[in-house]
Amino acid sequence: MTTTDRSVQEQAQATPVLQVKNLRVYYETEAGQVKAVDDVSFELQPNERLALVGESGSGKTTLALAIMRLHKPPGHIMGGDILLDGRSLLDLTEEEMRMVRLAKVSLVAQAAMNALNPVMRIGEQVIDGLIDHGERRSKEEFRTLVTELLERVGLDPGVARMFPHELSGGMKQRVLIATATALSPRVIIADEPTTALDVVVQRQVMITLGRLQRETGAAVIIVGHEMGLMGQFADRIGVMYAGKLVELGTVEQVVNNPRHPYSKLLIDSVPDLEEKREKLTGIPGMPPALIQLPTGCGFHPRCPSAMPICSEITPPFQRMPDGSLVACHLYDEPKAGVEA
Ligand code: SF4
Repeated sequence: MTTTDRSVQEQAQATPVLQVKNLRVYYETEAGQVKAVDDVSFELQPNERLALVGESGSGKTTLALAIMRLHKPPGHIMGGDILLDGRSLLDLTEEEMRMVRLAKVSLVAQAAMNALNPVMRIGEQVIDGLIDHGERRSKEEFRTLVTELLERVGLDPGVARMFPHELSGGMKQRVLIATATALSPRVIIADEPTTALDVVVQRQVMITLGRLQRETGAAVIIVGHEMGLMGQFADRIGVMYAGKLVELGTVEQVVNNPRHPYSKLLIDSVPDLEEKREKLTGIPGMPPALIQLPTGCGFHPRCPSAMPICSEITPPFQRMPDGSLVACHLYDEPKAGVEA
């Protein structure tokens, strides 16, 4: 490869496929404003796998749905931007966005049973989805495509003639993965794709998703709460708490050297069979109600390292010397003239 080729390739690799910039998704309710996603920014490179982890209610699913513009009212995007290949998804009309879904950015939904139509055969609904997003082929070509798609996720082509209730949870999830990857999208968003599956099937689903990601060259955002499973799949991990991204780094940085006290507690709550940790540490307290967030750092009422400043000032999302990002006052630069 020539130097020019290499620099072109490096430049292409450095161009993010997805940019989320200062995104804010709020819900207006009678009881007040709920900041479900609050000032979240990150970039995703082609081929990259990013896991978003956090407890229920941390905003990760709202963030995933907002990227697809599938968040439901009374949720609104109050600010920020979402760029796919440099083009703002927020500038698209509803019809343009409908065409972008599946073709450019697709969703593997959380509850496979709810995402599939119970009274339609699998093959028909896969074809229906493709037609709905602008794909035009003959009946025979569509049938061949469905066979290919099912085989690609390890399912027998006969599944096309079956109804969702005839499939196991793992098979349904594979159907969703087959549909989501059918048009080779640039970004696949998988929202807790292994919820309610047993551990063996969870692993098979993750392997299938990983293989298709490699084959299609798509970037993946996977949403989950199980740090161990996410760490095995992803390249980078983003930790969310109370609507904010509080830590973002490589799996090595976040899992082996977590900086944010919440990330540390999340990791300590995962069983480690190799180290045979005798006692698992739970996270003290409960996640805050998003409608009534604590002042300053949202984690301060539960944080074992909280300091006076934590309840007063929201910590900035700041870059660490190793390139990871963290929002915590423990890593504030010492002010000039103030002893550390
Ligand atoms: Fe804990 Fe303070 Fe850091 Fe928040 S800013 S995580 S309360 S040390």
